[in-house]
Amino acid sequence: MLRTATRRAKSDVANKLISMFLHDLSRSISRDWKIRVDGKEYEDLVRKCFENRCPYCFVRLTETTPVIEHLDGMNRYRAGLHLPGNVLVACRKCNGEKRRDDQIKVLLLDTSGWASFLSHDGTFCSANCKTCLYWESVWPDETEKKRRLSQSLLRIREFRSQFSEFQTAQHILAEALPVMLSKLYSDCQIFAETEIRSLLESFMHGSNLLI
Ligand SMILES: [Zn+2]
Ligand SMILES: [Zn+2]
Repeated sequence: MLRTATRRAKSDVANKLISMFLHDLSRSISRDWKIRVDGKEYEDLVRKCFENRCPYCFVRLTETTPVIEHLDGMNRYRAGLHLPGNVLVACRKCNGEKRRDDQIKVLLLDTSGWASFLSHDGTFCSANCKTCLYWESVWPDETEKKRRLSQSLLRIREFRSQFSEFQTAQHILAEALPVMLSKLYSDCQIFAETEIRSLLESFMHGSNLLI
C-alpha cells in the first residue's frame, strides 16, 4: 500500500504537468479567436444552450453546486482542451461520476469520455457497473433513462458543432497530441525517479546517517 502511495505521488506530478501543458496549448491556439472561453459571452451561450441545467442529468444549476466541466477531460487519455466547445458548466455529481470514463485508457462504449459516460444505459456493462447504477438512480424508469441519455448526447453534439475553430483545432491535433502527452508523461516520471534517487544518494553520502 505504501509502495502504491509513492507511485501515485509521481503520477500525480505527471498528470499535473499534462494539465498545465493542455492549458498553455489551449491559450496559444485560441489567442485570436473571437469567442473567449473565460468571457461572459461564452458562459451565457453555454447556459442558454443547456437552459441553465447540467448537460448530462438536466438538473437545474441553480439548485445544485455547479462546476466547470471539460467534455473531453484534460488528461493524457482524453487530451481535452480548455477551449470554447469543450468547456461547460455541469453539476458536481455528474462531473465526479464522469471521471471514471475519463480515466479509462481505451474506452469501450464510445470514442470520447463524455459520449461514453452517456452510453451506460445498462445494456452493455456488467450488473455492478457504477456508472450504469448512477443513471439508474437518476432515472429509475428504464424508458425515461434511455430517452434522456440520448437527448443529452444529441444536445451536446449540436452544441459542439457550433464551434468550427474548435473542430478544426481538434482535427489537426488528433494525431500529434496523444504522442506528445505520452512523451511528457513518461519523461516526467523518469525525471522524478532519477532526480529523487540522485538527491537521496548525495544526501545519504554527505550526512552521517550512514555509519
Ligand atoms: Zn448532472
Ligand atoms: Zn456501465
